[in-house]
Amino acid sequence: MYIKSIVLDNFKSFGRKTKIPFYEDFTVVTGPNGSGKSNIIDAVLFALGLARTRGIRAEKLTDLIYNPGHEDGDGGSSGPREATVEVVLDNADGTLTRSQVVNAAGSEDVGDVDEIRIRRRVKETEDNYYSYYYLNDRSVNLSDIQDLLAQAGITPEGYNVVMQGDVTEIINMTPYARREIIDEIAGVAEFDAKKEDAFEE
Ligand code: ATP
Ligand code: MG
Repeated sequence: MYIKSIVLDNFKSFGRKTKIPFYEDFTVVTGPNGSGKSNIIDAVLFALGLARTRGIRAEKLTDLIYNPGHEDGDGGSSGPREATVEVVLDNADGTLTRSQVVNAAGSEDVGDVDEIRIRRRVKETEDNYYSYYYLNDRSVNLSDIQDLLAQAGITPEGYNVVMQGDVTEIINMTPYARREIIDEIAGVAEFDAKKEDAFEE
């Protein structure tokens, strides 16, 4: 399974609907400083619900909505503001089975699961904000998305995403803390946690 494309709409610096295709093996994004490269990673973290633990760069969810800047003089009172990101996963290799997708979506009506589309929308109203998740166009909860992705080995605690600064942080860690990361990647940490739970019982 791999990310086939990302569609950003009104997300951070992407004020217009933008589709970014990815290659199966390796994709590099280049561009000048401040051109929005890291915003693409933020979009993936946002849409897949990995944001909180993997350090998305925003104080609040509504900061992720495209803001044309204050210089325009537009007070921004033109109704609700919202941002949407859709991550399209190529599942043609059957990493996730149809029944796993159906289970997560709570519906048989998920279309062809060769393609798994995870979409998140954040909407700001006058006095609140709302967040919605969709799996192949079916409305779902964050936990449905997380449970499904976990079955493909993608977890919020995992190192599927290595953020800017992570590498230097790992180099500067104590050997013990570094060992914890290796345990996490190797999948040993999960069993350590289960063992601890068992001892407590
Ligand atoms: P670098 O090479 O320095 O790492 P980058 O290509 O990764 O740069 P990003 O950090 O992705 O750049 O993009 C930063 C830009 O995104 C800034 O110009 C910032 O103003 C813009 N930006 C962030 N949030 C929003 C928003 N809500 N609305 C509009 N623009 C935004
Ligand atoms: Mg960057």
